[in-house]
Amino acid sequence: MQFDKGLVWFRRDLRLHDHTALHRALVQCKSVLCVFVFDRTILADLPRADRRVEFILESVRELDSHLRRHGGGLCLLHADAAQAIPKLAKAFGAQAVFANHDDEPYAISRDAAVRGSLSALGCALFTHKDHVVFERREVLTQAGQPFSVFTPYKNAWLKKLSASDFAERVIEPKQGQLAKPATDAIPSLADVGFEPTNLHDLGIKTGASGGAALLKDFLPRMADYGLARNFPAIKGPSYLGVHLRFGTVSIRELVRAAWPAAQRGEEGASVWLSELIWRDFYAQILANFPHAATRNFKAAYDRIAWEKGKRADALFAAWCEGRTGYPIVDAAMAQINQTGYMHNRLRMIVASFLTKDLGIDWRWGERYFAEKLIDFDLSANNGGWQWASSSGCDAQP
Ligand code: FAD
Repeated sequence: MQFDKGLVWFRRDLRLHDHTALHRALVQCKSVLCVFVFDRTILADLPRADRRVEFILESVRELDSHLRRHGGGLCLLHADAAQAIPKLAKAFGAQAVFANHDDEPYAISRDAAVRGSLSALGCALFTHKDHVVFERREVLTQAGQPFSVFTPYKNAWLKKLSASDFAERVIEPKQGQLAKPATDAIPSLADVGFEPTNLHDLGIKTGASGGAALLKDFLPRMADYGLARNFPAIKGPSYLGVHLRFGTVSIRELVRAAWPAAQRGEEGASVWLSELIWRDFYAQILANFPHAATRNFKAAYDRIAWEKGKRADALFAAWCEGRTGYPIVDAAMAQINQTGYMHNRLRMIVASFLTKDLGIDWRWGERYFAEKLIDFDLSANNGGWQWASSSGCDAQP
């Protein structure tokens, strides 16, 4: 279907390369306006100093400058997205809005509301897979059911994978095809109600340029990843989590980087690819078993009597503040508190310690991580916590 005017709504995909929704809009529309909304509904729940908001703001600034180089620009709104998108679509005269899938519960209900309002205006909402390689019900058991155990899921994922699944979605706007937003104004951190954090002191690089720099840095280290990732004190992993979270890298470009060496059977690349498959695995768990977002994946674990009361509150506070007296646990909590990042092995240790040693409900720890982690992702965080507490789909026994 072809349209005169289309809107591309950026959400967790803040880049101009290898972008499915933008690719589709450029193929289907004569004129394309790009928009990002600082969604008041999401921002309302965050602490006033939040590294993620700063990361997003800097990343959308870079996206805007990249779009300007192509003659367009990014329309930046600070509003309730469910109302702002239909309003902008109407003002621009768009017949279609393009976005990439987001399967988190809030996003599903927001997108349903937007779809309804747009359809009342005679405007369609097209959403596309972009955030993962395989989503929802694309990888199923032979009985046609979603997988809940990782290894057979991974085998089926690898068997299903073909080059087109991770081919680049090329972005080639024609001259004049990208529309300019009505204003050049970019809100400041204060405009959206937030305070600066230590993001810069930490040297965290934002935007697609930051993602590309980290990937470049990781490529020569990929061969050692299988072993190096086990030692929190050394530079073993890629640190790309936050870029995957906000889409400043494309999952397909990461698969393209790992696939050839993984196919040759090289260990580092195979193990790293496996981690990217874990990410798809937990995304499809959340999409197919939405109860897991708030409840134990396995109902039998609802009967665990977690510690409660003053003593549990005090132990939990000591855990959060890194005062347990167990050096590796306290070091890990210092890492998350001071930087918003925690090494994977440390996430496993502190989650196991909180649930198995202190007897505290995994949801308390999950909530704390959700507030602190710069790469917080509902599906991976929930999956990690349910894995550690043994209540999850393919959990630690
Ligand atoms: P790398 O080791 O370089 O891995 C590359 C990418 O693969 C990661 O960026 C991530 O996207 C993906 N990945 C790696 N391990 C996993 C995994 N076990 N499950 C799902 N995806 C994975 N990951 C998040 O992205 N967000 C979270 O909120 C999150 N919470 C976690 C909570 C707990 C309790 C546990 C045990 C794990 C959690 N993880 C989470 C998974 C993992 O720890 C992080 O993805 C990883 O540490 C991020 O660092 P990196 O980018 O250097 O990873």
